[in-house]
Amino acid sequence: MRTCKKCGVEKELTTHFFGRSKASLGGYLTSCKPCNADRKCQYSKKYRATHKESIAASAKKYKMPDAVRARRNATSATYRLNNKEKVKLNQAAYFAKHRVRLIELGKVRSKEWLKNNRDKAHATRKAWEAKNKKGRAEYRKAYLAENRGTIAAYKKEYWEKNRVHLSEYRMEHARKNPEEERGRREAAKNSDCYMLRMLGGGSAPQELIKAKRLQLQILRETRKCK
Ligand SMILES: [Zn+2]
Repeated sequence: MRTCKKCGVEKELTTHFFGRSKASLGGYLTSCKPCNADRKCQYSKKYRATHKESIAASAKKYKMPDAVRARRNATSATYRLNNKEKVKLNQAAYFAKHRVRLIELGKVRSKEWLKNNRDKAHATRKAWEAKNKKGRAEYRKAYLAENRGTIAAYKKEYWEKNRVHLSEYRMEHARKNPEEERGRREAAKNSDCYMLRMLGGGSAPQELIKAKRLQLQILRETRKCK
């Protein structure tokens, strides 16, 4: 095992995690592969930013003729098309061989990207939510319906476990927010649940429950109109 000098994470001392170096201690570099890749990435980014002109000039000088490029692209496209299975296997083998490094590198890069593109990520997320609003609501509804029992059991268990703590918190909150508490009590009085309890928990005649329900509905509607 070796602790990476850069990120401080302890990793196995193998070529999976550390690059080889004859000059270094134990024949391996002191910082891990993802860190080195990250550093290289940062370095070339900086280099590209500060050497824009010379890079453009040399690119122009050594530019591959369009015809050659097109021919090459066509050749590899044909190869990929005719050897789909082989290409797939090659890619899978490459990924398998460099799995750990690639995953870590991916994590580092996406973290970095997220850090630099927070607004963009937020906007994308919001856009996705807006686009899938209906689907999400439906999914949620279906999920709730399907797992009603489990959810109720979980809630009950949670309440039982934290009864003292929760009721204390509720009382404290009510004491601090009397206005809100009054509203909540008023709303509770108009609820179906409260009405049923007042009528003796469902043992009341169905006709009476129906009538009371209608009464509550009228009350609520009248309030809305005020
Ligand atoms: Zn590291």
